[in-house]
Amino acid sequence: MKITAIDTFTLRIPTAKPIALDLPEHRLVVTRVRTDAGLDGLGYSLVFGGAGSEAVEAYARRLAVLLVGEDPTQVGRLWDKMYRADRGIRKVGVAGYALSALDIGLWDVAGKAAGLPLAKMWGAVTDRVAAYGSGGWGSYTVEDLIGEAKRYVAMGCRYYKMKIHDPDPVANRKRVEAVKKAVGDGVRLMVDVNQKLDVDAAIRQARALEDFDLVWYEEPTLADDPAGCAEVARAIRIPVATGENNYTRFEFRELIERGAARYLMPDVCRANGFTETLRIGALAAAHQVALSPHVVHELSVHVAAALPNSFLVEFIDWTPGDLFEGLPKCEGGAFRVPDRPGHGIALGPDAEKKYRLG
Ligand SMILES: [Mg+2]
Repeated sequence: MKITAIDTFTLRIPTAKPIALDLPEHRLVVTRVRTDAGLDGLGYSLVFGGAGSEAVEAYARRLAVLLVGEDPTQVGRLWDKMYRADRGIRKVGVAGYALSALDIGLWDVAGKAAGLPLAKMWGAVTDRVAAYGSGGWGSYTVEDLIGEAKRYVAMGCRYYKMKIHDPDPVANRKRVEAVKKAVGDGVRLMVDVNQKLDVDAAIRQARALEDFDLVWYEEPTLADDPAGCAEVARAIRIPVATGENNYTRFEFRELIERGAARYLMPDVCRANGFTETLRIGALAAAHQVALSPHVVHELSVHVAAALPNSFLVEFIDWTPGDLFEGLPKCEGGAFRVPDRPGHGIALGPDAEKKYRLG
């Protein structure tokens, strides 16, 4: 089998309230892998909030050139070809998103060629992955927060994650307290700093939340600063989670070696695709660190189902009903892993026409 062409384009998808209060749109940079065997693979990177999608698309086009004429089922070899191309451009940031989209498309072809869902190709440990409801942005009113948390609880989720973006630690504490009271003891909470604090402020904020039995305290410092994250982790009593803005197994190795987090959260659309995310997951397993993949649950469920050390996928309920076909539904707080070959997701029949940019 040979790759004959890769169609690269961007979808711009408006979000609904309350998410739209903070993020009015997301973008998907799509890389559709076409082959001479009549199998197509759908690759994409979710550019959350949309910023920089033009650069991701441009670099994905550049990497796609390297793949045309190649056998798409040799994913590891092609991953390496892309990763080692352009020595002056490390595969982090924009380049990591671009490589991820193509890797995901290649794996979709490989799964379809094998007739297996990806989780089973990778030796699945389960066919069902528990999820946590996620959102709770800083622009939400307390009513928005509680409303969103309760919608996830109604879908069976036993966990809800909210942002703590107010500069005043006491104001954040009040918001967490209000949600905790509304959802009750049967639902545990996580909080997300989203890199907004320095080490001292992150420690002070965490100490103001220690009595809520939080599952984790996420991205306390800049993702560029694993030493700072580790300093916070040592100083607070809430387990730290991080990794959605880290891109390679080498970055994750450093996080592990520094003891920077108990939960690592690679994003398959950033961390150089399924190929590298599986390596990160195995590395974490060797250190008894849990993996909780970031967003894109429709793709992450395959990774989580294939790894013994996975703990929850993130579920942000933002996707309009006509964007995808085959989107897994959250039932009883969990997603059943799609049983279709490949990752099992396709664009909806009108999605390209409706959402395509340019
Ligand atoms: Mg986060």
